[in-house]
Amino acid sequence: MIEKTSRIPGFYKLDIEERLDRVSRFADLSRDEKESFLKDGKLSLAIDKDIADRMIENVIGIYELPIGIATNFLINGKDYLIPMAIEETSVVAAASNAARIARIRGGFEAEADEQIMIGQVQLVNVCDIDEAIQSLLRSREEILRIANDQDKVLVSLGGGAKDLEIRKLGEDEMLVVHLLVDVRDAMGANAVNTMVEAIAPYLEELTGGKARLKIISNLADRRLARARATFDKEAMGGEDKVDAFLEGYRFALLDPYRAATHNKGIMNGIDAVVIATGNDWRAIEAGAHAYAARGGSYKPLTRYWKDEEGNLVGEIELPIAVGVVGGAVSLHKKAQICRKILGVKTAKELAMVLASVGLAQNFAALFALSTVGIQKGHMELHAQNIAVMAGAKGEQIDEIARRMIEEGKIRLDRAKELLEEIYGAR
Ligand code: NAD
Repeated sequence: MIEKTSRIPGFYKLDIEERLDRVSRFADLSRDEKESFLKDGKLSLAIDKDIADRMIENVIGIYELPIGIATNFLINGKDYLIPMAIEETSVVAAASNAARIARIRGGFEAEADEQIMIGQVQLVNVCDIDEAIQSLLRSREEILRIANDQDKVLVSLGGGAKDLEIRKLGEDEMLVVHLLVDVRDAMGANAVNTMVEAIAPYLEELTGGKARLKIISNLADRRLARARATFDKEAMGGEDKVDAFLEGYRFALLDPYRAATHNKGIMNGIDAVVIATGNDWRAIEAGAHAYAARGGSYKPLTRYWKDEEGNLVGEIELPIAVGVVGGAVSLHKKAQICRKILGVKTAKELAMVLASVGLAQNFAALFALSTVGIQKGHMELHAQNIAVMAGAKGEQIDEIARRMIEEGKIRLDRAKELLEEIYGAR
């Protein structure tokens, strides 16, 4: 019986089959589930072609990304192996490394709000805005009833439309009604969009206006997730490294040019898990960046400070609208297996994992940037990619990459020269 821990030293040194074997035992994957990643020793396709054909229009094939596993994550005392689907070098290694350091002081503490999404109805041509607001407020219960009639399943699970908010925009230019919906374990866009479309005619009747746009808001600020971790100063190489880190963080606080890249680093981790679990990463991206700009200027989504012992403490807060049911989550077989590997049962738990991954990723990037720089970590895989581009195959890839790193010249032209020099290849 293998110990159920995400701390797997040397995971990266195992070959693909051995890694898959370790993950299968951790997550108790069936033979079928395991084989969906690897068939006859080859990487297999991500989704069935019939499912793909129903997922979007005009399908001609399947576009694949590698799935890597980030190790070492301890979140609220539970071990997680984290599947990440991403094309960018170093993200998985960086997340694993950050989680290893966070683990020394207990890992991540995370929490998430209830799964409240906001549906918006825009009302224009309202003659008497104040009277219209009164009329809407008087009919609150009936509006919620119409909304809830659309989704008996959601209501039976304790979710559904819970409240209304009414906003005036412009100089009495338009009224906007917010429908607050508890979407339970779904991302919720379809559910909410159906509800706002259903209440729109009644809102027109109540206000005398015209209902134009009826759609969910991706600024899901009622559905925030938060994570916090302490990064041990010794593991970071001493308190001067913590200070250097904090100087790097200040740069992002003061400058939107830097903050954009800072937050991009956070989303490297979050998006990769969102994609692996079949969720809508554009929704997460839109929500994160809108939240980062909520005060009127664009800010980092993380906060850092030193504790009294000089260790680094980091915290993240952002909207996370993801589901464990509905949308592609319920159709994409590999997304379901990724969720099984993650071992998350609820949308709330997934949101807490995502917040922790975002913090880990951001810590790793800032730590590298404020010490050795970002390229060092990227170097090895980057050099291998360049070697492949130059035409290297099998063992040639490692050899050409090693030589380029040694020489400090990681360039396509040099890879081609080396390939010719060592292997006589043209
Ligand atoms: P969905 O409609 O497929 O699934 C949600 C439904 O599943 C609920 O309405 C409910 O009836 C049912 N359900 C069963 N068990 C449930 C449970 N435990 N918790 C909650 N509901 C449960 O999907 P969705 O989550 O409403 O919508 C997500 C999809 O909408 C994504 O594919 C997204 O890309 C897409 N979308 C997004 C936007 C946007 O973000 N702006 C706009 C339109 C569509």
